[in-house]
Amino acid sequence: MNSVLARSINLPSKYGAASRITTVRCLASKIEDIQTHTGQKWNSDDYRLVRFTNAPKQVNQNWAVNLIAAVPSKEVTERIVWCDGGSGPEGHPRVYINLDKPGDHSCGYCGLRFIKKEHH
Ligand SMILES: [Zn+2]
Repeated sequence: MNSVLARSINLPSKYGAASRITTVRCLASKIEDIQTHTGQKWNSDDYRLVRFTNAPKQVNQNWAVNLIAAVPSKEVTERIVWCDGGSGPEGHPRVYINLDKPGDHSCGYCGLRFIKKEHH
């Protein structure tokens, strides 16, 4: 039977409510692998797990798809909005998004969502 130590590190709240990094250290010869965001997970007897005998495997639990889903849609009154992902090095090329169809529309680069506020 494997002896596994698991530890979670909480990150600042700007990364979302469920912000944590889990590290798992296995003390026995068999190592339980953690599934990554790409779905990669090896059997406990796979030779590639030998790299984690002295150092724990670190898997980020904050998948981008979950983080961007936690950001609420931005209500706007215009028919067409643009998004550049914020200014500076964290941004992306400016794209224009048409909001004529109902529902919210997401930016293809950063995933921010926009929804047209109805006028009454
Ligand atoms: Zn964007």
